[in-house]
Amino acid sequence: MNINVISIFPGAMETILSMGTMGIAAKKSLAGYRVVDLRDFAKDNYGSVDDVPYGGGGGMVMMVEPICDAVRSLGLREGSPVILMSPAGRMFDQALAHRFAAADELTFVCGRYKGVDERVRELVATDEVSIGNFVLSGGELAAAVCIEAVVRLLDNVLGNEESRDTDSFSERRKHILDCAYYTRPVEFNGLRVPDVLLSGNHKEIQKWRENSSLERTRARRPDLLANGARES
Ligand code: SAM
Repeated sequence: MNINVISIFPGAMETILSMGTMGIAAKKSLAGYRVVDLRDFAKDNYGSVDDVPYGGGGGMVMMVEPICDAVRSLGLREGSPVILMSPAGRMFDQALAHRFAAADELTFVCGRYKGVDERVRELVATDEVSIGNFVLSGGELAAAVCIEAVVRLLDNVLGNEESRDTDSFSERRKHILDCAYYTRPVEFNGLRVPDVLLSGNHKEIQKWRENSSLERTRARRPDLLANGARES
């Protein structure tokens, strides 16, 4: 998969993309990253990519022309996803991560300042995506969140795909959280690992894990169970 990121902080973005799962995917040649410095598409000699908003008010607005030129410079195939990071976008979730993971190329546009000229949405963005009901100062970290969630779904990126496939929100666990996990030591500060996990009885362990998943979901995210019931 090719992943392009358009940003005014290309160096920071490259560092983020070299980390953890995203870095592993690149090393295994399963994902290739192209980071585009938006300032290369500025129309003046100062590298300006933002201007004051028409109508006044505080904050600067990212200009439409450099962003459109940066996207067009990538020579994307017709319909290739161009994802504008925005608090006003569709909420990112595992279903969207799966949809993006099926594409062969993704392009993320990172806003800054007060936001992005509205015409970017109309001219080049195919998707507008938010990572939550809060406001960051820029789209870089938001894009990185999406990229990591997508890349870990690509075949052969993770060492242990069984682990991924039992994660919360995975295809198998759409409406249920993952179970509780323990590792050594068996006892710490008076808290003991449940005996069944030490028993070696795989059937009983499986039963315990299913129950743990259900209890955790009931306690923390009953909305997921309600959604599951509605859909079935
Ligand atoms: N004025 C905008 C608003 O209230 O919707 C916020 C602009 S924010 C300060 C600057 C940029 O950060 C946005 O253009 C977007 O690219 C990115 N951003 C901020 N919060 C985000 C979020 N929750 N999800 C995705 N991108 C976000």
